[in-house]
Amino acid sequence: QKAMVARRSHLPAQTRDGSRISVMGNIELPEEVVSVLDHGGDGIGLYRTEFQYLSRPDFPGEDMLFDNYKDVIDVMGTRPVTIRTLDINGDKAVNYIRDSHELNPALGLRAIRYCLQKPEIFKTQLRAILRAAAFGNVRILIPMISGIEEVDQTIRLLDEAARCLEQQGVAHKRDIPLGIMIEVPSAVVAADILAEKVDFFSIGTNDLIQYTLAIDRGNRHVAHLHQPLHPAILRMIKRTCDVAREKGIPTYMCGEMAAEPLYAPILLGLGVDELSMNPQAIPLVKDAIRSIDSKDIDDFMNAVMGMTTPDAVEALLAETYGAVV
Ligand code: PEP
Ligand code: MG
Repeated sequence: QKAMVARRSHLPAQTRDGSRISVMGNIELPEEVVSVLDHGGDGIGLYRTEFQYLSRPDFPGEDMLFDNYKDVIDVMGTRPVTIRTLDINGDKAVNYIRDSHELNPALGLRAIRYCLQKPEIFKTQLRAILRAAAFGNVRILIPMISGIEEVDQTIRLLDEAARCLEQQGVAHKRDIPLGIMIEVPSAVVAADILAEKVDFFSIGTNDLIQYTLAIDRGNRHVAHLHQPLHPAILRMIKRTCDVAREKGIPTYMCGEMAAEPLYAPILLGLGVDELSMNPQAIPLVKDAIRSIDSKDIDDFMNAVMGMTTPDAVEALLAETYGAVV
């Protein structure tokens, strides 16, 4: 059974009625890109760039970052590579940043908030990304966006970085899709405002669940309450997809929820356009997509959205699509 799933992993993920979904890989290290291709991934949906900052005694320089990004892009060829800008602090502490102690790091100076306070560090990364973008199919993704000013400031810094590169005669590409992570509840509620300024959304369910349900994602005492099928989470995903569709931009998902094959009918039914996950999960999710028929989805989703508990949704899923794996 496992061998058959593996053999099918290089076929496209297409529903029974022929609608094709990109299934992408999440990576942290450049060398993981090989595993994404081996497992049949259609591209990189999330390149977490923290490692180059966490594994060293000091901030990495522009050339080192550029080399890292270019390594990934070179292997992926024309396939999309989604580079997420730095998401440090929170649960990813950097020990050479002094005075970084926070009582509540998940609610602290994390990700885009940190980068906008340290524009020089941020611009170094943006320059490396724009340079690498000249070599492939790059998208840029901004984590922890909670309001439009953060998007505006990021766009200003991107323009500034591109202008400098231009003046210095350094090869680069400014015209690349800009997306934001949807992982803070305010971004869902204000998605209509955010959609005006960006080219795509990518839902980060790990943090969206944490912040919506007030569940520390690393706390085992509340791990049982970390429920992707909670009605509040399903409604937030639905709102994000609905707003995006209305505004003409796609919605992707790169949180762990995307890696659960059993959830695929719900995610497609809610309107998620592309899924990204740890490479090992790609063949199973592709297989799950092949068993879905869009003509059944409307009735199924009506039933799902009428459920009041995660258990009820899970039971309906198991009844309709088979047991939870
Ligand atoms: C998420 O929050 O779902 C996500 C994909 O980002 P990270 O796990 O890196 O916070
Ligand atoms: Mg996150």
